[in-house]
Amino acid sequence: MSLDAFFQDSHIFHRSFSKKPLHVASANGLTLTLDSGKQLLDATGGPAVACLGHNQPEVAQAITTQLQKVGYLFSGGGYSESSTEELAAFILKNKPGGLSKAIFLNSGSEATDTTIKLITQFWHAKGEPQRCNFIARKQSYHGNTLGGLAISGHQSRRQMYSHFMPSNVSFVDPCYAYRCKLAGETDADYVERLKQQLDNEFQALGPNTVAAFFAETIAGSTLACVPAVPGYFQAVREICDKYGALLVLDEVMCGMGRSGTVHAWEQEGIRGPDIQTIAKSLGGGFVPISAVLVHQHIFDVVANVSGSLAGGHTFQAHPVACASALAVQKIIARDNLISNVREKGVLLADLLEKEIAPLPLVGNIRGRGLFWAVEFMLDRENMIPFPMDDDFSSKVKDAGLEVGVNVLSNMGFAGMHKIDTAAITPPFIVTEEEIVKIVELLKVAIEKVSEPYL
Ligand code: PLP
Repeated sequence: MSLDAFFQDSHIFHRSFSKKPLHVASANGLTLTLDSGKQLLDATGGPAVACLGHNQPEVAQAITTQLQKVGYLFSGGGYSESSTEELAAFILKNKPGGLSKAIFLNSGSEATDTTIKLITQFWHAKGEPQRCNFIARKQSYHGNTLGGLAISGHQSRRQMYSHFMPSNVSFVDPCYAYRCKLAGETDADYVERLKQQLDNEFQALGPNTVAAFFAETIAGSTLACVPAVPGYFQAVREICDKYGALLVLDEVMCGMGRSGTVHAWEQEGIRGPDIQTIAKSLGGGFVPISAVLVHQHIFDVVANVSGSLAGGHTFQAHPVACASALAVQKIIARDNLISNVREKGVLLADLLEKEIAPLPLVGNIRGRGLFWAVEFMLDRENMIPFPMDDDFSSKVKDAGLEVGVNVLSNMGFAGMHKIDTAAITPPFIVTEEEIVKIVELLKVAIEKVSEPYL
């Protein structure tokens, strides 16, 4: 492969060498302005990150103020400060589902790693060290560190590192009705089948050897915005309780308001998880931050028996990240932005259904709040996906960029299925006019790339 001179000359080890990155000169609200002067309507805010849009002056001020107050502290060395304490108190003030403690980290992957370690420490402290098996779901994604990949069922992301993948993680089917529900099966039947499969997995491993079950409440980055069918998480919670295992919900992507409630699990009729990870809409992307939210019952055991939390990171609980996320969370609360997520989410869903669903290569539209995706199919009647080497979703993304909208494409063989999707995950501040424009431009982009196939 002959490398473009741009990649030879750049001192950055870019992620992709097939296309030059778009150079963004400035970003404001939902507008990205490229060096060329061209403007894009940013319908995703990165991978569902920029929940307040770009360039929020109050957050910028909070960051500056924090830098002038306490710019850095080593939390592992026994230090803390007020923004960090206040952020934890703010997001856990009503102890949602009994979650009462936060560990602040820098990425979703670090949050996953920390969760795996915390669970291990918990079961050791409880005197049940044999609980060392983990169950997660096929096609899932919980992070790109070795720990994150270990618990992720996304085959193509794991396979190169298979020699680092542990043998104590097993995978059950995801809840993905569009592709996995059998013909004639009701939602209740489907839930029952998945519940039985999970129960069987516990039995096969030895019920008192299972430490935890991991799932994303709304499957995001690999399946693209797939909410579970009603009753699925109740069934999962029931099985975890039956065998005394912990339930971990990964809300790195779907959490902190994105789904229309602060936590996506609030819409699942369960009491909540034992541990939850959050990241993207916690800090809105201004400064990297993630968190592990921990139930009081886990804290009690670890704090009373172990006396300290094992492990840590140099930049954990970074004061500037915490101050920035605190400003983001206060703005979301003050401006009632989760109501806007619900309201604009209904409009987005309606327009996608009306304008995009009838297009011939669109197979499925699903989502919740401001977390929506379109799944493409070469032959939707017969559920035939595009060939493996045909990256249809990237073509949609590129066509979108040409007409002025940025959507999030996802193409891949996620272990079980070839998937082509475009996600629309606009900031919580999105207006009605912007939603209308996003759908209008997306439609033009899909129609344009569909032509050769029809
Ligand atoms: N968990 C989920 C559900 C994610 O979507 C992601 C990233 O997309 C991660 C974990 C990993 O987060 P990060 O990329 O910040 O390490």
